[in-house]
Amino acid sequence: MATIAIEKGRLLLGEHLTRSNILVENGEIKSISRTKLSQVDKRIDASGKIVLPGLVDGHAHLHDPAFENRENFTSGSRAAAAGGVTTVIDMVLSTPVDTLERVKAKIAAGESRSLIDFSLHAGMMNLANLQNISSITTAGVRSFKTFTCKPYYVDDHTLMSLMRETTSHRSILDVHAEDEEIADANFRRLVAEGRIDPLAHLEWKPNIAEERAVRKIVDFARQMRARLHISHLSTAEAVLIVRRAKTLKVKVTAETCPHYLTLTRRDMKKLGPYLKMNPSLKGPKDASALWNGLRSGAVDIVTSEHAPGERSEKEVGWRDIWKAWGGVPSIETMLPLLLSEGVNKGRISLAILQRVCCTNPAKIFGLYPRKGHIEAGADADLVIVDPKMRKKVRAEELHYKVGWTPYEGKTLKGWPILTMLRGNIICEDGVIMKDPGDAQFVPMSL
Ligand SMILES: [Zn+2]
Repeated sequence: MATIAIEKGRLLLGEHLTRSNILVENGEIKSISRTKLSQVDKRIDASGKIVLPGLVDGHAHLHDPAFENRENFTSGSRAAAAGGVTTVIDMVLSTPVDTLERVKAKIAAGESRSLIDFSLHAGMMNLANLQNISSITTAGVRSFKTFTCKPYYVDDHTLMSLMRETTSHRSILDVHAEDEEIADANFRRLVAEGRIDPLAHLEWKPNIAEERAVRKIVDFARQMRARLHISHLSTAEAVLIVRRAKTLKVKVTAETCPHYLTLTRRDMKKLGPYLKMNPSLKGPKDASALWNGLRSGAVDIVTSEHAPGERSEKEVGWRDIWKAWGGVPSIETMLPLLLSEGVNKGRISLAILQRVCCTNPAKIFGLYPRKGHIEAGADADLVIVDPKMRKKVRAEELHYKVGWTPYEGKTLKGWPILTMLRGNIICEDGVIMKDPGDAQFVPMSL
């Protein structure tokens, strides 16, 4: 395989950007140096640009065989590649991935249809499939998703049983944490009041619903000494609980998503059902607590939580919000949003962006040191960013199957211009350069 030199780009060595040359050989990073590289097959001039590790998206709903109308491995991984994401950990949407057989089938689908490398979360876990955890781990899947609320609600006994089982198989329990009792009581009230307007959805699971569920599962994780990962934190209260738990050495990690960082309830007044998601959007104080959490380390990673729905699945929500699909397309705009709203606005440093989007997700889910950093021996998964490029988000220029984005018309500064997966350029200037078929499943080693 060819040798490639990526020259004069700035990359983070420690906390600081340093101009360096990267030598890629056989799909791996061979060396990083400041001296000119001789005798290479191809040179990429990255002067004036920033080189980051390809992003590792720890939570994205790319592929569900029952919902290929929304996205699939091919369309979703093309959008990912264009957004600088080179590894995705696909999250179960509704078709169960809860037996070894189903896990293997999804791995096969990804290998033949994805453009980028991938790993998998298994789920949705409950008392009935708990005994499959052991066999699933033999396939290299060590993250198991469950819920504290509908539609995949499990009770406290089950949560603890799942933690016992994941712990004894060196695995992670990944929890969607919103309290079912609060949600249920609010739902009954809203239905009784005839509330079907978009904003009713915001009242269904308020901050206290997340706070209560997060407190509970963190307590269980402490008690069970389990590795707990909390999906998509959306509230200031939950950030505080996770932060405290970490000081008590509870093995908890947490994620948040671009939408909770850059959008609030107020945006839903304009975009209505298009911003219906679970958890729902919160207030500006929550968003700033989440940015602070990324800085302090209370919140470990940013994931896209890419969960697109078709326009028609969203439009029905103007009349009855409960009928609309909950979720937004997100994977292609994650990096430019974090650069523009995070780094450029001084909310996070570039070093923190790299940590929460690349290194930490790879470490948490056992994909490190192959993925998530730029070091000799790692896969040559790289994204070259033009920090000065200013561009409006336009759905027609994105690669989503559903053809819309919550960020339509928003001007962002800082865009990926080249994405490389194991030494192959898969996207350049927004153009996909490769067909799927070379994707590798990356087993989790924990
Ligand atoms: Zn999700």
